[in-house]
Amino acid sequence: MIQQSNTVIRASFLHFINDPAKVENIDDAYQYISDGLLVIENGKVKSLTPFNDKSADLYPHLEDKRGQLIMPGFIDTHIHYPQTEMIAAYGEQLLEWLETYTFPTEKQFKDKLYAQKISQFFINELLKNGTTSALVFGTVHPESVDALFEEAEKIDMRMIAGKVMMDRNAPNYLLDTAQSSYDQSKVLIEKWHNKGRLQYAITPRFAPTSTPEQLTLAGKLKAEYPDVYVQTHLSENIDEIEWVKSLFPEREGYLDVYEHYGLTGEKSVFAHCIHLTDKEWDTLAKTKSVIAFCPTSNLFLGSGLFNLDKADEHHVPVGLATDVGGGTSFSQLRSLSEAYKIMQLQGKKLSVFKGLYLATLGSAQSLSLDHKVGNFEKGKEADFIVLDWAATELQTLRLENSNSLQDKLFALMMLGDERNIHSTYVAGKLVYSVAD
Ligand SMILES: [Zn+2]
Repeated sequence: MIQQSNTVIRASFLHFINDPAKVENIDDAYQYISDGLLVIENGKVKSLTPFNDKSADLYPHLEDKRGQLIMPGFIDTHIHYPQTEMIAAYGEQLLEWLETYTFPTEKQFKDKLYAQKISQFFINELLKNGTTSALVFGTVHPESVDALFEEAEKIDMRMIAGKVMMDRNAPNYLLDTAQSSYDQSKVLIEKWHNKGRLQYAITPRFAPTSTPEQLTLAGKLKAEYPDVYVQTHLSENIDEIEWVKSLFPEREGYLDVYEHYGLTGEKSVFAHCIHLTDKEWDTLAKTKSVIAFCPTSNLFLGSGLFNLDKADEHHVPVGLATDVGGGTSFSQLRSLSEAYKIMQLQGKKLSVFKGLYLATLGSAQSLSLDHKVGNFEKGKEADFIVLDWAATELQTLRLENSNSLQDKLFALMMLGDERNIHSTYVAGKLVYSVAD
């Protein structure tokens, strides 16, 4: 363990304490300190307080970032790192898109050196966009997961990832078998789960690409390692749902397949969940399963409009996600801007407080990580970002006439992107910064 010295920063701070949907008064959901002082010790938050004159005497070497906004790092609850290079591929919906673009790209990750190269690029891209933790799909190749974890470990980044399990309905060159997927996942769990800040996720791609035998073994793994995550896809696209029904006629529907094989639960994260039945909403709630909401992907692939309010009504935890390469940006600010429009198209609203909560504490809670990250409570791991309120001339102009915190934050959510991320800290250490 590297000994870290204290970091003390003066700036404006915003973080969340509660879900804005669950408080009567919005002021109980967040804390904003316009002139605050954050003290970091050994990679963890020691205190966050308003700045006062004594602070200057106590911490003569404090970093002065007045005029900038500090927030907890963004958390991305669903992303495919091997798809980084095929982001924005033209013209198809889910099933054709997988066949035409995704599978040929993922083939390359058999080569560990290639996987290393893309892992480095991917992590750098996350940091540039202010994302300090992610739940990540590898490919079917165990090498892809080794490469990603090795890179994350170098900067002590909190990362959850898993090897894709896929033994049918994909090209032969990308298939494992039920047994090999079990064996390889088990080796990876033993090697990486809870090693430093790394954790493992059992990763059947989605029901159509796994045989019942493979799903049985995935469930067996989850029973053997209950602390490990499960990540997969659910009800993204109408054709996909019909396909699942034809492959598993004995099951009641898509979610029932996962439920039957023991793959639901509070550490199970289902991406998309756009076309759920009422029964499926109830099952998600009953099993405490989690949804990853992927706005840019849902719009790009024409999958549909996710109903965030319904998730709140059913008390189903939701995390925010980019779903790159189905998603079109690594930026969670851009995810939120698209999430706002998805709500508008359904005659609903997404407040900036709910949005920024989702990108930080909400996603931490959805991943059962809120005791570690997600806000600046004492003892939390110090993953945070320094934001510029305005990174473009248009943003500057927009802010000139803005006179409330809510409006300034809303402009940031709608117009902001990676250009607003000035620097990123992981476990109290600076890991990315724009050149001043
Ligand atoms: Zn996905």
